[in-house]
Amino acid sequence: MKIKFWGVRGSVPCPPMGEEIRAKILAALKLWSQNNYPDPESFLDSLPPWRTGLVGGNTICLEISDDQDFLIFDAGTGLRSLGQTLISSTVYELLEQFITSENLPILSSPQMEDVPSQLFKLFMTHTHWDHIQGFPFFRPAYAPSCQIDIYGANKDELKAAFETQQSAPHLFPVPIEFMRAKITFHDFPKKGLKIGQFFIDSFPLPHPGGSLAFRIKRRDKKVVFATDYEIQKLDASPIHGRLELAEFVAGADLFISDTQYTYLDHATKEGWGHSNALSVVEMAAQAGVKSLYLFHHDPTYSDDKLLDILDKTRSYANLFQKEKAMAIELAMEGATIEL
Ligand SMILES: [Zn+2]
Ligand SMILES: [Zn+2]
Repeated sequence: MKIKFWGVRGSVPCPPMGEEIRAKILAALKLWSQNNYPDPESFLDSLPPWRTGLVGGNTICLEISDDQDFLIFDAGTGLRSLGQTLISSTVYELLEQFITSENLPILSSPQMEDVPSQLFKLFMTHTHWDHIQGFPFFRPAYAPSCQIDIYGANKDELKAAFETQQSAPHLFPVPIEFMRAKITFHDFPKKGLKIGQFFIDSFPLPHPGGSLAFRIKRRDKKVVFATDYEIQKLDASPIHGRLELAEFVAGADLFISDTQYTYLDHATKEGWGHSNALSVVEMAAQAGVKSLYLFHHDPTYSDDKLLDILDKTRSYANLFQKEKAMAIELAMEGATIEL
């Protein structure tokens, strides 16, 4: 299966500032002057991805797919980029037509008529802004040949959140009922769901308003996606505690987890519904996770700060890990993992 990060930032989109890009160019030029590479391109290829790219400013969206099925987890602003790669015409052109005509031209847009049919399964952890804002800009939602089945903890609340986002008083010009894909909302089944070769089940997480973790199995591989939860709050729950989450995560090849704060920042943000990397890494190591990806990065953290968190988290894990060390990585926008 393929796992691709389309949006890794928590809370609010945060495009990079010019200063951050300049600092990256400057650091790369300094390294270039100290090295003897034959050409700039091979030099850039030799650098780690965070030296030449960005961790990313889009909010939460994850693709998990194989040759047959296309699963999407959360609809943050990363979903817009995902949709752009699938359909070449622009939603903005359609929006313009919509705004300037009284006859709902979206209903007769020639670009959208040509889109091949495709089924998307969208799984929603919850409906905070940073998890739904990309949906109005998801191109396949405008194509009559596409079908989008949306799953979450409560289908009525899910539907209300998606509809409200595209209606008054927000004044987004296209209400969800004018999007031409067949869009349906579903309760995520308690017993889990089989889609092609994937089996998906869920675990309720402590977060303001609640959030769902998803476990995705395909053949002998297992991915757990748990965002927007505060690991300390698990201890207060007699039913869905830390041990139960560790069991849910046990042996995962890939554990993509909320690690929004540093340990110190978390101390001032208790009850905000997010975790720190050091507390998560303890649980993940005990659960026998093979690879942990730090995710839902705080919007105020620079790439340098995130790399520092990654270093410290790895050092901390080395204190209690012996031979079978768990890999620890930073989720970066655009990165793809094959399992
Ligand atoms: Zn979030
Ligand atoms: Zn949230």
